[in-house]
Amino acid sequence: MKTNLLNFDLPALTEHFAQMGEKPFRAKQVMRWIHQGGAQSFEQMTDLAKSLRAKLQTQATVGIPELLAAQESKDGTRKWLLDVGTGNGVETVFIPESERGTLCISSQVGCALECTFCSTGRQGFNRNLSTAEIIGQLWWANKALGVTPKNERVISNVVMMGMGEPLANYDNVINALSIMLDDHGYGLSRRRVTVSTSGMVPQMDKLKEDMPVALAVSLHASNDKVRDQLIPLNKKYPLKELMAACNRYLTKAPRDFVTFEYVMLDGVNDKPEHAYELLDLVKDTPCKFNLIPFNPFPHSGYQRSSNHNINVFKDILMQADIVTTVRKTRGEDIDAACGQLAGQVKDKTKRQEKWQKISLEKQI
Ligand code: SAH
Ligand code: SF4
Repeated sequence: MKTNLLNFDLPALTEHFAQMGEKPFRAKQVMRWIHQGGAQSFEQMTDLAKSLRAKLQTQATVGIPELLAAQESKDGTRKWLLDVGTGNGVETVFIPESERGTLCISSQVGCALECTFCSTGRQGFNRNLSTAEIIGQLWWANKALGVTPKNERVISNVVMMGMGEPLANYDNVINALSIMLDDHGYGLSRRRVTVSTSGMVPQMDKLKEDMPVALAVSLHASNDKVRDQLIPLNKKYPLKELMAACNRYLTKAPRDFVTFEYVMLDGVNDKPEHAYELLDLVKDTPCKFNLIPFNPFPHSGYQRSSNHNINVFKDILMQADIVTTVRKTRGEDIDAACGQLAGQVKDKTKRQEKWQKISLEKQI
């Protein structure tokens, strides 16, 4: 079995080369070829000795996931579907804005956490993505998008907000983050790489020590009763523990605030009383809010809040001096909006059957 070098961050690649009897700077060279030069074969790495290239060819690969489809939305949003084997695919989305270009990356095939308003959660879980499959998404998008006329990378920001719960695939995500941040990899700053979590408290504490990038937390509710319904994980790590973990994270975070994501579900969590309850909940936690109008999917059982309700909610937070943005829905025409990323998941948990049964029962 050949070793896939795409799974290695710089320390691991350096170690691998040491075992081959090669100097550490070789690892840096190869890293740059793969991630900055977009090289897929060792032949392309012309500043490596011929003998080393030949050795690598027999022992290693640059195993980039295969590209199955690429789409572009009317609004410039782009989407790639990558093959991750055995009938599974994952999606990656690029969202261009005037000041930045953000790539939204997936971390798992499906998700095991069963949030009730999320189509990924409803589809079930197949498996974790490898480091190569996570960083492969950035590799393809970077290759497609390249640099601006000013020679700056078009992808300035990465958010782990695609399919899956990144902190449930901790080790592979950490390795991928390490490659994103490395000067010999993609050279992104810690402030411009965001991990979004539904609230895995122990892993948040670990991330703070291992790779403190910007943090987004899917809050979605102002009390445990509502959050328990939306995010089953809340029963394990309720709001009090989650807020304490956010405060601990802030001691090491590259930004001096946590971003709270809050999906706006009509009649569920979008009333003024919820907004006031939130103010109390976050009073000791420097934060910004990103309100996400719910993106519907078949048989979800939820509806998007009205624009009026979203604006009233936003104003209550803003009046308390909390910076609050409403996420614009982008790329809807290519199903690239939040919670619409489906990919192709061969569900191992039989959850799709469960939900189909529930929605059938509802229809009857
Ligand atoms: N698992 C992680 C990251 C992926 S989801 C997390 O839950 O944070 C990225 C964001 O999209 C999360 O805030 C998630 O709650 C939200 N989301 C999921 N389904 C959605 C939907 N149908 N409409 C709007 N936002 C949704
Ligand atoms: Fe998983 Fe996040 Fe969807 Fe919840 S919202 S099911 S954690 S991807």
